[in-house]
Amino acid sequence: MTKFVQVKNFINGEFTDCVGMLDSFNPATGEVWAKIPDSGQNEVDAAVNAAAQAFPGWSQTPQAKRSAILQKVADILESRFDEFAVAESRDQGKPVSLAKKMDIPRAVHNMRFFATSCLNYQEKANYMDIPGALNYTTRLPVGVAGIICPWNLPMFLLTFKLAPAIASGNTVVCKPSEMTSVTAWMFCEVLNEAGVPPGVVNMVFGTGPKAGDALVRHPSVPLISFTGGTATACLIKAAIATQCKKLALELSAKNAGIIFEDADLEKCIPTTIRSCFVNQGEVALCTSRVFVQRSIYDRFLEKFIAEARAIKVGDPSEPDTWMGALVTQEHAAKVVGYIQQAAEGGATIQCGHGVVKLLYLLQGYFVRPTIITDVKDDDVIMQEEVFGPVVCVVPFDNEEEVVKRANGVQYGICVALWTSDVGRLHRVARKLEAGTVWANCWLVRNLYMPFGGCKSSGVGREGAVDSMEFYTDVKTVCVQIE
Ligand code: NAD
Repeated sequence: MTKFVQVKNFINGEFTDCVGMLDSFNPATGEVWAKIPDSGQNEVDAAVNAAAQAFPGWSQTPQAKRSAILQKVADILESRFDEFAVAESRDQGKPVSLAKKMDIPRAVHNMRFFATSCLNYQEKANYMDIPGALNYTTRLPVGVAGIICPWNLPMFLLTFKLAPAIASGNTVVCKPSEMTSVTAWMFCEVLNEAGVPPGVVNMVFGTGPKAGDALVRHPSVPLISFTGGTATACLIKAAIATQCKKLALELSAKNAGIIFEDADLEKCIPTTIRSCFVNQGEVALCTSRVFVQRSIYDRFLEKFIAEARAIKVGDPSEPDTWMGALVTQEHAAKVVGYIQQAAEGGATIQCGHGVVKLLYLLQGYFVRPTIITDVKDDDVIMQEEVFGPVVCVVPFDNEEEVVKRANGVQYGICVALWTSDVGRLHRVARKLEAGTVWANCWLVRNLYMPFGGCKSSGVGREGAVDSMEFYTDVKTVCVQIE
């Protein structure tokens, strides 16, 4: 008999049963590998009550002690590194090697980073031109924070929200994605072992429309930090339209790469391969439209296709696998549907799905890195988020034109810009409608810097200072002592 991982809710420091359970599939095999709670209003109520009761104690715990507990969480997580990487891969489909290199180290780093940055947050103070008048700010945690995460980087994104939230004295109720719940559940053991007091972090598992909706609507949850799709964010905003809640939204993307003729292709091509296909293209920062200056278009395309073809797609547990499986059968079907629609509309599929058969025959949800050309800017494949290993490569002629075309989508998380002309780099970076511009690099960002999207890609910013500001309410104290 198959033995499933039995995920339980984590409420008030204890693992609790839930009546209904959902199947969670291993994307590489198509088999159920975990059963997760199908939580609803009752479970969310219990979690919010636990968080509300823990709030007075935790918010008054000295900052240094909160910081030390977060550091302990990081240490324990680091000591269980391999176990977490394997579970993350089974849940999400990514290669274990990637989880070891990216997801789990970053989760550890998030805990450590916010454990220390909360100690260094600076308040503002001003003397006024009125005798004895001094104004200063002080910050207070908001209360119970509702944290809702997607499936693509489960531990990475959970800790990116949870660490600053609890570091600044809030208590939290988290709702991980129903597709990738196992590592969040394992993490609860780490929290207990590290001495996080009961109720400070609560985890309810289940679907968005049931558990997620109950959490966002809950009147005792004054703050929601959500990462996921733009369409879901609109539902959340509508659901809480009659309540005043603090809201941070990190949403969908359609990121551009812009490659000028003076780019260093030796560096640009491997980095662009990574920016398009890492984690099966399931990163909101991935590039999905590559604009290449016409004079180097053919040269770029030839090398780019050759590198994409060389990517090893297959069993995520093999150390040399570079790309694993897409998260679910439905998601893989959606990605393939976009490729087919583009082909039917006259696009050329240069490599990938439908061109080369996967040599690796598992029952999982595998799609090869797919490069598409001969598309127009207003084609669906150039406008909508695919969120898979699919990229369109198109030529451009000049700077002004490419800025306009790169900006011509509803989303704006990031752009990867490649040029050796420093003047152009700064000029173009300023004109791009995106929360982050990578210049001659990708994914090189310090946690101190603001992170978030423009336009339909998000509201609010995270990152050291911004997170500390989001998870607290500022109070201005105005004193006159004469
Ligand atoms: P999703 O919007 O379907 O789900 C995200 C989370 O919201 C899940 O936990 C889900 O259960 C929950 N949810 C769904 N409906 C809900 C509702 N009505 N009320 C409350 N919660 C609800 O997104 P997904 O498919 O899990 O993730 C992929 C999306 O996330 C992509 O669009 C991707 O670009 C985006 N994403 C953005 C960032 C970023 O930093 N901007 C990072 C990662 C992923």
